[in-house]
Amino acid sequence: MSGWDKWYTNAMKLIFLGPPGAGKGTLAAKAVDSLKVPHISTGNIFRAAITAQSVLGRRVKAIIDSGKLVDDETTIALVRDRLARDDAQRGYILDGFPRTIAQAEALAGFSPVDRVVNFDLSDAAVLERLGGRRTCRNCGANFHVLFGRPKQEGICDSCGGELYIRNDDREEAVAKRLEVYREQTAPLIGYYREKGLLVDVDAGPASDTVLGNFRKSLGIAG
Ligand code: ADP
Ligand code: ZN
Repeated sequence: MSGWDKWYTNAMKLIFLGPPGAGKGTLAAKAVDSLKVPHISTGNIFRAAITAQSVLGRRVKAIIDSGKLVDDETTIALVRDRLARDDAQRGYILDGFPRTIAQAEALAGFSPVDRVVNFDLSDAAVLERLGGRRTCRNCGANFHVLFGRPKQEGICDSCGGELYIRNDDREEAVAKRLEVYREQTAPLIGYYREKGLLVDVDAGPASDTVLGNFRKSLGIAG
């Protein structure tokens, strides 16, 4: 297979679903290398807006810090605009969207997806992972004090940015995020399974193993 063929074959519109801490962001960042599609993370877009202190950022900061969801109207408008751009026409990985049935229905109206990958992880593992997570202020890359330490303490391997602990990775907010996930986002698993779009991947193993299993289950060349 030539490089071009691979480039086209792998183009897909994908949703990465799963609880906070399942590794969606890390896996998406790795997967887009071979898929050649943009990684669109609503969490990263919101955090960038907060850092930039834009109108949107100032409006959503308190909501995000507490672990609750930003309202559907705001989030849907943001994603609709992002998916209208040229680079998203062939495919994309949506990470962190949709998170409610209303968001899923809206997405089906403006950009139906090919597959939904459900990264499955127990609550115990979620708590363990989010507890030690460190995030790059600049590019959003994730590290972990036990499972994926940066080469240099406090510094992002990919861009040299500063690593910090997200406010919503603190204990009270993590519990809230899990509750929100179970109540509002987990119903999407059944919703997409019924439509025949769901692919389950165990998010328990190390990220390279999970990535390999993800590729295998979608038939993506590595
Ligand atoms: P996680 O690490 O929990 O997957 P994200 O980085 O995806 O977190 O999102 C962080 C926060 O941004 C969420 O807790 C929520 O407040 C907000 N957010 C992100 N995506 C959405 C969405 N699709 N709908 C509503 N709020 C969202
Ligand atoms: Zn970085």
